[in-house]
Amino acid sequence: MDIGARSRLAFLGGARRGSARTVATAVLVAMTCGASTLAAPSQAAQAAPPPGAASSAPASGAWGVMASGASGTTASGAWGATASGAWGAAALSAPDDRTGTGPLPRPRVDCRRVKCVALTFDDGPGPYTDTLLAYLAAYHAHATFFVVGGNVVTYPRVLRRTVAAGHEIGNHTWSHPDLTRLPPARVRSQLGRTDQAIRAVTGVVPRLVRPPYGALNATVRRQTDRPMVLWSVDTLDWRFRSSATVARRALRSVRPGSVILFHDIHPTTVRAMPRVLRKLAKRGYRFVTVSELFGGHPPRLVFGAP
Ligand SMILES: [Zn+2]
Repeated sequence: MDIGARSRLAFLGGARRGSARTVATAVLVAMTCGASTLAAPSQAAQAAPPPGAASSAPASGAWGVMASGASGTTASGAWGATASGAWGAAALSAPDDRTGTGPLPRPRVDCRRVKCVALTFDDGPGPYTDTLLAYLAAYHAHATFFVVGGNVVTYPRVLRRTVAAGHEIGNHTWSHPDLTRLPPARVRSQLGRTDQAIRAVTGVVPRLVRPPYGALNATVRRQTDRPMVLWSVDTLDWRFRSSATVARRALRSVRPGSVILFHDIHPTTVRAMPRVLRKLAKRGYRFVTVSELFGGHPPRLVFGAP
C-alpha cells in the first residue's frame, strides 16, 4: 500500500481535528513499519479526511510554535505541529510523567533564522548506527534517535557514542508494540522500562516519545506529558530497500522545518545518508535535533513542516 504525501497530509489534518483515530493508526502502521497490524484499507479510505487539511499552517519559524509546552495547551499555528483538539486536551489532564526533567538542551542553531531540518532515526540502535554516526559527523549534523529499549541493552556502547556525538535520544518503547492496543499500565511500562535502560546506559532521560507506527489515541497520550513526535516526511525506507529511492523520497519533500523519518536498522537507509546530507547541505540546510528545531521546547504533538 503506497500512501503518498497527500494521504499523509490528509491524515495529519484529521489527527488535528481529533477524528478517526483508529483509522489514523491503521494508516500510520502501514506507512511506518509494515502492514502486520494494518486495518482494512477500505476502513482507512472511509474515514480519511479531505486532502490539504493540514497544509495551511504558516511557517513562522520553529521557535514561534513552541507554545506552552509545559502546560500542554499546545501551539495552534505554525508548523502546525500540535494538536489543538482532543489530543491536546487529553494531554492536559494527566501530567503524571516524571521524566524528561532537567536542563533544557541549548539550541546550537536558531531555526528562526536558518533553514533547519530534523533527521530522525527509529528502531535502533543497531549494527549500522555507527556508520551513520560517521556520516552525520562529516556534516556536523545532529539528529534524533528514537530507540527501542530492547536494542539499547543489546547495543549500549553504540547508544553511548550516539549521545557523546551530541544527538538527541527519544523513547520508542521497549518492544515496539502498537500502544493503542495496550492497557494504560502497559503503555507506561513500555515507556518507563525504556527510560530506565537509556538512563542506565547514557545518564540521559529522553524528553521525547515517538509511538511505534505513529499509533496514538487519547489514552496513550495521557500516559506521558512528554511531546509525542511524529513526522512530516516519510521515506518509507522499511519498504523501499534502495538507497537511491530512500534518498529521493527524503529530498523531494523536504522543506524548512521538516521532520524526516528514517530507520537506521536498514543498511540501505544508512547508505542513503551521504547523498541526503550532501544535497541538503548544498541547499543550505542545517541538521538539528527535534528539540533544537523548536528552540528547545517541542510542542505536545510534533509533525514538522508539511
Ligand atoms: Zn518504529
